[in-house]
Amino acid sequence: MKSILLITSLLTNCCNGVQYWSEPPPPIWEQVYEDVREIADERHRPGQNIDLRVAPGLPPERVEAVATLYADATSFWSGAFDFPQTISLTVMDESDRGWWESITTQESPPLRDDYNLYDARWFGDARSNKSIGMVGTDHLGMPHIVTVVGSGVDFEHSGAFSVPLVARHESTHWFQYLASGSMTEKCVDWKMALFLGYHLEPEDPRNDLNTNGMACPWLSMPCWFSEGHAELYTIPFSLHPDRLRGLRIWQINNKDTLTEDDLLRSLSRTRHNLTTGRHDCTYEIYYPIGLLVNEKLFYDFGDERINEFWLAIDQPSSAADPSWHRAFRNTFGMESEDWYVQSAIPYLLDSFEGRG
Ligand SMILES: [Zn+2]
Repeated sequence: MKSILLITSLLTNCCNGVQYWSEPPPPIWEQVYEDVREIADERHRPGQNIDLRVAPGLPPERVEAVATLYADATSFWSGAFDFPQTISLTVMDESDRGWWESITTQESPPLRDDYNLYDARWFGDARSNKSIGMVGTDHLGMPHIVTVVGSGVDFEHSGAFSVPLVARHESTHWFQYLASGSMTEKCVDWKMALFLGYHLEPEDPRNDLNTNGMACPWLSMPCWFSEGHAELYTIPFSLHPDRLRGLRIWQINNKDTLTEDDLLRSLSRTRHNLTTGRHDCTYEIYYPIGLLVNEKLFYDFGDERINEFWLAIDQPSSAADPSWHRAFRNTFGMESEDWYVQSAIPYLLDSFEGRG
């Protein structure tokens, strides 16, 4: 009896009528993922027209299933960016490599591949049990989505390499391209610049074309931004977001020993080194680190301002003064490097220790 009284008085004393017990807040990433799913439910979606290009012989019911998933994934973004353009979507399966090569030759606009960036190497990842995708741009900078949907994939499944998740990821890229000005004059030669960045030796004089130009914002954007952004708007819709996120964190090498300086260097890396013009990103920064950094960007600033940021990137850009840098300052009210140090890097370190 004595002990019951004691407990009663402790409860009364401790809390003074204020609620004395509450759930700890969910981790940042869980809140953010919940918010992303909420946008999908609540945002007005005007929809986006899709122009389908289908490999001969694909079963119509499978084409229909793919088209439905892309209609849903693209309508999510149509509510944020009101672009009038029609999305070109090419669908094939793992046996269509020959057809794909035949429609990407020099004589086949708009998919023609002048710089051999999207050649058979990309198709080499195609399998009957998975879905892969990419977004290319034509000679006018107009993006188009291409996907290989394995002949054996289950459309209901929503794990890694599943059709619904690839549809969300690639659809996000399509809107990123248009928002950041891929169809403007400054981006017409970005494939050429990419080609030079990938293929030339450092001493090759043609690098001048690359290092002196880089007017297209894509070329000097930070490595963590575009893939991580696409991942952030994809993984929350999977069957097990926690597992896919855990897998991404697992992919980061030596995370126990990474210092703040190491991470600052990683976040400051851009698609092309601003001095040498050469490609400067890694898988690790693009996807796993990119996902986490975009989670924190969303948490700090929210979906709408991030969309404003994408649109603000479409400005004159150069290696010395990349447009995303100015856009970051104007949209979020701080220098990107200050945000890295104050917010993104502490979050990364917490996430590596399972506290994110
Ligand atoms: Zn991607």
